[in-house]
Amino acid sequence: MAEKYKRTDGRAYDEMREIKAKAGVIKNADGSAMFSFGDSIAIAAVYGPRQLHPQHLQDPSKCLLRCTYDMLSFSVNERKKPGPSRRSTEISYVTGKALEPVLQLDAYPNTVIDVFISIIQADASTRCAGINAASIALANAGLPMSELVTAVSMGKVAGNILVDLSKDEEDYRGEKIKETTDIPVAYLPRSDKISLLQLDGRIKVAELREAIKAAKKACLKINEIQREALKKIKE
Ligand code: ADP
Repeated sequence: MAEKYKRTDGRAYDEMREIKAKAGVIKNADGSAMFSFGDSIAIAAVYGPRQLHPQHLQDPSKCLLRCTYDMLSFSVNERKKPGPSRRSTEISYVTGKALEPVLQLDAYPNTVIDVFISIIQADASTRCAGINAASIALANAGLPMSELVTAVSMGKVAGNILVDLSKDEEDYRGEKIKETTDIPVAYLPRSDKISLLQLDGRIKVAELREAIKAAKKACLKINEIQREALKKIKE
């Protein structure tokens, strides 16, 4: 049984924080974008496809998609140690896996596409904000994509399924239900496929189904905002 839970910022359970998206924010990159969920702000910059060095890393059958996620030291209240960590290595890896299905990597043999994601302010769901920014940035770079990848973080707090958790919601502990479950989801709206599904915590099958359904609904809204951001730059 779920406990009564009032969201800290008064949102409905299926309501996301304010979303902002802008394409073309870094002049020197081939493509770039900013994407934010409330106070979680991601910037993505895309370079390539370009020749991959050192040469032994080249794949004659396809391009290497190299994603680098970095949460900057000043992005959180207590200064974070700069540089890569186990967490950033994992997030870089899953971000690449979430984006790969929409790209035609076999069109660019022996090359690399670099995607740098910087989290300049963090309040949870940063991997999802990063994927959304990277997806806009890849399209902004003019790369052929079958569709835009869209991501949102679902959660179970005090037994309730919520969309787009903030950090204080992630840290919330109910009176009886102490566990919070975090479920980042990346969704391909056109082909109705999921390219990322992580689960940190426990959840029942029926609840996971409910979370995925709500994630898809939220992603359709995010997808509209991503497309608007790309349209604006063409005007
Ligand atoms: P995500 O940001 O994708 O939700 P996590 O669940 O790992 O990824 O992190 C949740 C939140 O915890 C982050 O968005 C950030 O607000 C905070 N956080 C993560 N790592 C650190 C850290 N090293 N120092 C301070 N806060 C952190």
